[in-house]
Amino acid sequence: MSGARYWAAEAWLDGRWQREVLLEVGADGHWSRITAGVPLPEGAVQLEGPVLPSLVDAHSHAFQRAFAGLAERRDSESDDFWSWRDRMYGVALRITPEQLKSIGAQLYLELLRGGYTQVCEFHYLQHREDGTAYEDELAMAWALAEAAEQVGMGLTLLPVLYAHAGFQQPALRPDQRRFATDADWIWNARSRLNAAGRPLLNAGVALHSLRAAHGDDIRRLQALVGDTDLPIHIHISEQQQEVRDCLAATGQRPMQWLCNELRPDARWQLVHATHSTPAEIEQVAASGAGIVICPGTEANLGDGLCDLPGWLKAGVPISLGSDSHVTRDWVEELRWLEYGQRLGLQRRNVASAPGARPSSAERLFEAALAGSAAPAGFSAWGLRVGARADFLVLDPQASGQLGVPVTHRLDALIFGGQGQVLRQVFVAGHCRLEQGRHAAQARVSADFDVVMQTLWGGSGE
Ligand code: ZN
Repeated sequence: MSGARYWAAEAWLDGRWQREVLLEVGADGHWSRITAGVPLPEGAVQLEGPVLPSLVDAHSHAFQRAFAGLAERRDSESDDFWSWRDRMYGVALRITPEQLKSIGAQLYLELLRGGYTQVCEFHYLQHREDGTAYEDELAMAWALAEAAEQVGMGLTLLPVLYAHAGFQQPALRPDQRRFATDADWIWNARSRLNAAGRPLLNAGVALHSLRAAHGDDIRRLQALVGDTDLPIHIHISEQQQEVRDCLAATGQRPMQWLCNELRPDARWQLVHATHSTPAEIEQVAASGAGIVICPGTEANLGDGLCDLPGWLKAGVPISLGSDSHVTRDWVEELRWLEYGQRLGLQRRNVASAPGARPSSAERLFEAALAGSAAPAGFSAWGLRVGARADFLVLDPQASGQLGVPVTHRLDALIFGGQGQVLRQVFVAGHCRLEQGRHAAQARVSADFDVVMQTLWGGSGE
């Protein structure tokens, strides 16, 4: 709400809990002033719980929400990422723009409930079921834009360059026909999306992966992007097979090849970056690029564990992605991120930095917060002047928070929480979620239910 003034008894400001914080929203829906140590002024709205910045969900494939919970059975000796992908294509090949809008609205509402207020949509489902272009080539992208608008979620659309079935493949597989794009298509899509003038919508660009976008495709897109400040996302090193194929095709590992051949910079977001060497981490750190970790999906797909201590030590910007949407809540993602490391390394508090930041929860949250702006192409994010006025109000009565000292609030939220923990969620100064409920919820859920029944009813899958 432009001109609104909010006041919180406690807010997470500049990396710590501060008391009596006045938060002022400018006419553009961004923070105009934030001041700690101010008694409740007349006319300010008193918030009924501690205030936390929201996070950006830096990696989403909205259509995969229609698949969550429907790929958890094994019918053959082995089941891995690649067999999952073939089944996922089965869903991708039958979703219409109208269905995608309903799926997206349900997902984005759930992401708001999960504490995200901006989502980066890695969007490659572009064409009709038979692979021909829609009358408006961006029909599927507009469906996502309308879904986000319906629930009041910020959206960064990333049309994806997708041109090859593998490192040595000249073209796509028949079941990838809905994804086919080239650099000029992506550039045109991104330009139209950015020119649409829709509030809360912006666009960047993406490359599916090094196996699906080859050096020449990427260089052409880089030339079009030039020195504009657009975010550039790419899936990289998610699977060992991809690393082996890259080594066979180029003699280098994926991140090594990317850094040596394409000179990524701070605009680049390397999604997953699961399988790395210390030398690759050094190269990525020197480039300024960020990584997007998707702990829930990486666990679900059996991808492997990233070298979290290595990335943190190198100071590489980190953001979170909900990716396939088996989890839609950053609290759960951060818990998974730390627990995966504990299980793998047989240690506790892997993310913490003794002395500087002994709390694992605080260090992970601060990393994800600091890493939030770049994937969305924003210059600022969080509780700081100039950033969009997005924030979360924690429920101080949530069972995991009862009696917990302020100093341990984030620890209790991430490692001891249960159920609904947010009282309100704000986007651009507007309250979108009140006690976990959204004004459009009944309609959105009913539409989604119908779409799911149409997609899955009687399919026997
Ligand atoms: Zn992905």
